[in-house]
Amino acid sequence: MDIVQKIREAGIVGAGGAGFPTHIKFSVDKVDYLLVNGAECEPLLQIDKYLMREKASEIIKILEQLGDRIQAKEIHIALKGKYKSEITELENAIKNLNSRVKIFKMGTYYPAGDEQQIVFEVTGRTVPEAGIPLDVGVIVTNVGTLVNIYEAVDSDKPVVDKCLSIHGEVKKPLIIKTPIGMTFEKCIEAAGGATIDNYKIIVGGPMMGKVIVKESLKKEVVTKTTGALIVVPEDHYMIYRNGKTVKHIVNEAKSACIQCRMCTDLCPRYLIGHKLRPHRIMRNVSMLENDSEILKEAMLCCECGICELFACPMQISPRLVNIHLKNIFRKNNVRFEKSTRELAADSMREYRKVPTDRLISRIGMSKYTDFSEKKAVVLESDEVSIPLKQHIGAPAKPVVSVGDHVECGQVIGEVKEGLGANIHSSIEGIVIGIGDSVIIKNKGANK
Ligand code: SF4
Ligand code: SF4
Repeated sequence: MDIVQKIREAGIVGAGGAGFPTHIKFSVDKVDYLLVNGAECEPLLQIDKYLMREKASEIIKILEQLGDRIQAKEIHIALKGKYKSEITELENAIKNLNSRVKIFKMGTYYPAGDEQQIVFEVTGRTVPEAGIPLDVGVIVTNVGTLVNIYEAVDSDKPVVDKCLSIHGEVKKPLIIKTPIGMTFEKCIEAAGGATIDNYKIIVGGPMMGKVIVKESLKKEVVTKTTGALIVVPEDHYMIYRNGKTVKHIVNEAKSACIQCRMCTDLCPRYLIGHKLRPHRIMRNVSMLENDSEILKEAMLCCECGICELFACPMQISPRLVNIHLKNIFRKNNVRFEKSTRELAADSMREYRKVPTDRLISRIGMSKYTDFSEKKAVVLESDEVSIPLKQHIGAPAKPVVSVGDHVECGQVIGEVKEGLGANIHSSIEGIVIGIGDSVIIKNKGANK
C-alpha cells in the first residue's frame, strides 16, 4: 500500500495543531523542502523534545521515505539550538542511517515553532498572506505526526494513543502516554493531582491554549491533538486575560491605546512581510472608522499573543479583537484573498524576536518551568470516550453500534471522502454509547 494511503487508513492528523488530515498534506508529487517542526512553539511544552530523544531513528527513517515519496530536494529538522541532547540523538541517527536529513538550529524565541516562521528561517521564503507553505514549495510537519506515520507504515498501527505533558500546580509534572479518549481528570491524577483547590486548566500551551474549568475535567478527553494540560490558580493573569470581553477591550483601546504601534512592530507575521497591522485594527475598532480593508487584516493573525502579552505597554489585547473579527468574517463567508505581491521581511525582524525566557517570566509561568521527568508514564483506561471529530473537516461517521465488541485499533468512525480522518478504538471493549463520541468500556470494568 502506498505511504499516503497508509497515513489515511491510520487516521493521522497534525498532532501539534488544529488536526489537518495528514494524507491530504502529503498528496503532492514534488516539493523543494520537507521541514520538520521540532521547535516546540509554546513555552513549557515537552512532547516534541521527548519524541526526538526517544524516537530519533524512527523519525529519520520515515523522513527518508516521505522525502522520496514527495521528491523533496531538501529535508530539514528545525529545532532550537539549545536542545542539546535531542540534537545529539538526531545527529547520531542521521549518521548511523547515512541519511540526507539536516538539522537546522533556531534561536530561543517565541514563536519559533510557528510554521511560517520556520519556513522563513530555513528557506528565506515568506508564505503568501492567507496562503500555505506549499505555495512556496514547502511541506511542514511536526514530530508527533511523523512518529505516527512511522508506526502506520512500519506496523500498520493507527492513531490510538497520545503523548502529552502535565504541568503547573500538580504534585509531579510529567509526560504521559495515554489512550485517546481518556478523561483529563485521570491525566491530572497521574501527575499526583492538583496541589491547590481553586484552579483552572489551560489545554495546550500557555499562550494559545484554551481555558477550561475544573468541573469539566470528567468530560473533557484527550484527542489526537492534545499536547499539554497546565493547572493554574483561577486568579492567574493568563486566566484573567482570556476572560476579557471584546467590549471591555474596545473600551480599553478607546481610553488607553496610545497608538505606539509596538503591537505591530513585534508582530511575527508583520515581521515576515505580511500586511497585518494590529495598531491600525485597534484604531479602527476603537474609533469606529469601519475600514473593512484594515479590519480584514485580522484574518492574517496567527493568535500568538505577542501583541497582548509582551508588546502592548497598556495591556490591551489586539489578539482577542482579531479573534472576534475573524469569527465575524468566517460567519459571513468573507475571505482574505491570497496575495500575489512580492513579500519582503522587515529588516528589523532579527532584532525584534521575543526571547522565550523573558516571555515566560512576563506571563507568570517561571515557577512551572522545572520539568525533571524525562520518560513517559504509560496510562491505561477501562473506559474511553472517543470524539468522532478530532480533525479539520467533517466528523467521522460511526461504523459500530451499541453492544458491539471492538478491538484496540479497530475503525469505529470513517470519513469516506472529503476532508476528515478515520477514528479508531483506543482500547478493547464493548461500545456502550454513540453520540458525538463513541464510548467504549473494557469488558473487565465494573465487574
Ligand atoms: S501596543 Fe497597545 S497601546 Fe500600542 S498601538 Fe498597540 S494596542 Fe495601542
Ligand atoms: S496575536 Fe498579535 S502579535 Fe500575534 S500574529 Fe496576531 S496580531 Fe500579530
